Amino acid sequence: MERRNMQKMKFNFKGIHHCAAVVLTCIDFRFWRETIAFIEEKFKIKDFDFPSLPGSAKAINESNGEDVSFQCISVPVELHHVQKIIIVNHEDCGAYGGSEKFGGNSAEEQKFHEKELRKAKEKISAKYSGKEVIMLYARLDDAKTEVEFIEFN
Ligand SMILES: [Zn+2]
Repeated sequence: MERRNMQKMKFNFKGIHHCAAVVLTCIDFRFWRETIAFIEEKFKIKDFDFPSLPGSAKAINESNGEDVSFQCISVPVELHHVQKIIIVNHEDCGAYGGSEKFGGNSAEEQKFHEKELRKAKEKISAKYSGKEVIMLYARLDDAKTEVEFIEFN
């Protein structure tokens, strides 16, 4: 095999096929790095699947339960035997029309995302009743220079 510009990277999961969680996020470039950092810090895990779909919960809520959106959950559950399913929505999400749609009312926007996350949780729990489903919302502070993660109970 011809190898051009090959670079070796350490592989940390030799012989391991199961992981602790799946973290479904939006594709948005502004949030995923902080989301990974937050998940690792908060849940003390590094072994999680990390699918991303526009709107995160939106994709699950619009899924027919068998399409690629739902496979972002079903494959980690059925193949990697995850125990935790973490769904992360975020402020100013373009898939939902952004903050603009809420006239800059961030409290309204947060309430809306909470509803979306609850809906997605219900749909996932209906199929995988034994799994813990965690709902997170990444909001921006007033200066729009920091991301805060809120967990809904
Ligand atoms: Zn988004």
